[in-house]
Amino acid sequence: MTIAQRIAQIRAHLPESVRLIAVTKQVSVDAMMQAYQAGIRDFGESRLQEAQAKSEQLGDLPGLTWHLIGHLQSNKVKPALDHFHWIHSIDSLKLAQRVDRLAEGLEVKPKVCLQVKILPDPNKSGWQIPELIGDLATLNQCKNLEIKGLMTIPPLGLDQAKTLALFERARQLAQEIQAQNWDNISMQELSMGMSGDYHLAVQAGSTMVRLGTILFGERSP
Ligand SMILES: *Cc1c(COP(=O)(O)O)cnc(C)c1O
Repeated sequence: MTIAQRIAQIRAHLPESVRLIAVTKQVSVDAMMQAYQAGIRDFGESRLQEAQAKSEQLGDLPGLTWHLIGHLQSNKVKPALDHFHWIHSIDSLKLAQRVDRLAEGLEVKPKVCLQVKILPDPNKSGWQIPELIGDLATLNQCKNLEIKGLMTIPPLGLDQAKTLALFERARQLAQEIQAQNWDNISMQELSMGMSGDYHLAVQAGSTMVRLGTILFGERSP
């Protein structure tokens, strides 16, 4: 199957309201071009430098939205704000505050998701639930961030039932936060679902799925 065919097939099974982000880490510019021609306008990258290099090679494609989905180092916040429209991986209060401060200077207002660990996972960054709840009042002060929702990644090796339960817990958490009526925190977006589990994420109410392998094939290590 071509990339365009895979995209069409997945699109056909996604609710129209779910945004399909093509994760293009380690994917060639040529493959990205094919995805663009098949209608993809959202690209997700985990590394700033790779995204910048590809952006240059792609040239000026109208309508592109770039999503940062990997951990953002504090010394790269400024260039990241120049490149990415969305940051899904705001994973600590310290990072949120730094992005907020630098966004003010650059006069940009990035859309961000708060990365949360629904289950403990030493391999992932992000808030645990009680810590996130405790930080909301301070996050609400980050007026240069457009806080749009939550992002989560299940720990490796979770079975389907537990993965679905995890995604449902994330949706419930978003609803709990929404019900607190913060003036600068909205919870309309749920960035969850990758190639292996997006069907479960969508079932639980995901609004943005981040798909790599299922569109472009296995990445070489
Ligand atoms: C790589 C990556 C994806 C895409 O994963 P696939 O399994 O290839 O679909 C999604 N989200 C994040 C945060 C990633 O790092």
